[in-house]
Amino acid sequence: MLIMGSTSFSPSLSLSPSLSPHSSKFPNPNPNLFLRSHSSFTPLTLRSNQTRYRFKKLPSSNAPNFLVAASGKAEPLKVIISGAPASGKGTQCELITQKYGLVHIAAGDLLRAEVAAASENGKLAKEYMEKGELVPNEIVVMMVKERLLQPDSQQRGWLLDGYPRSSSQAAALEDYGIRPDVFILLDVSEDILVERVVGRRLDPLTGKIYHLKYSPPENDEIASRLTQRFDDTEEKVKLRLRTHHQNVDAVLSVYKDITVKAYC
Ligand code: ADP
Repeated sequence: MLIMGSTSFSPSLSLSPSLSPHSSKFPNPNPNLFLRSHSSFTPLTLRSNQTRYRFKKLPSSNAPNFLVAASGKAEPLKVIISGAPASGKGTQCELITQKYGLVHIAAGDLLRAEVAAASENGKLAKEYMEKGELVPNEIVVMMVKERLLQPDSQQRGWLLDGYPRSSSQAAALEDYGIRPDVFILLDVSEDILVERVVGRRLDPLTGKIYHLKYSPPENDEIASRLTQRFDDTEEKVKLRLRTHHQNVDAVLSVYKDITVKAYC
């Protein structure tokens, strides 16, 4: 893959949601994801084989943003998104899948489905998830690979979220010849991650994610049915953050030529 522009790829290139007053505290509700170049205002083009994605400058007065606009699309886009717990992956995934029609594949969701089904894999996975540790590769790798190879993912392209989380998981994808076009890393300062996690709630009826302080439920009826993920406690998120930090550099080294950083 090449990243073209009047200048060569700049490491200062960042992918960020448009800024809002709450952007440093809670996932941005704006449905557009923008590429912003700190070093120049020059539009960039990203090519992956015959597929071309153009980054256009947005008509915005307050920021030198670039909108990702697909053009000359000959094959489906493949994206991996990575970030610490509560870095905003869920929100960004919703926005990206809506915009590009990709199939969203979240390793954590696949695992939670196994846990809910009380399968053998689910029972074993839960032991690790409760400790904030990585579930063994024997369970995760095949599960993700099979989902990536399903017809909808192949036809529409995919957005893989929460995988790979170790160099061996990245190596397994490479061995299967599965390589993304772009690797997005969400970068959020650690002090706000814990607060986001502890206040995060799910509406089991609509699937909508709330935050008790920054995005509270609209009424008492919704508030009364909100649930909390079993690993969204302060104690457990600290363990999950430690696991994330132990592994993120190894994964980044595999994809460093296709990485864009997003600051949320
Ligand atoms: P978060 O990113 O907030 O930790 P996820 O829903 O992505 O939440 O993951 C929840 C848990 O599922 C993780 O703490 C880990 O135990 C397990 N898990 C998720 N993805 C993987 C993976 N790729 N490999 C191993 N375990 C995973």
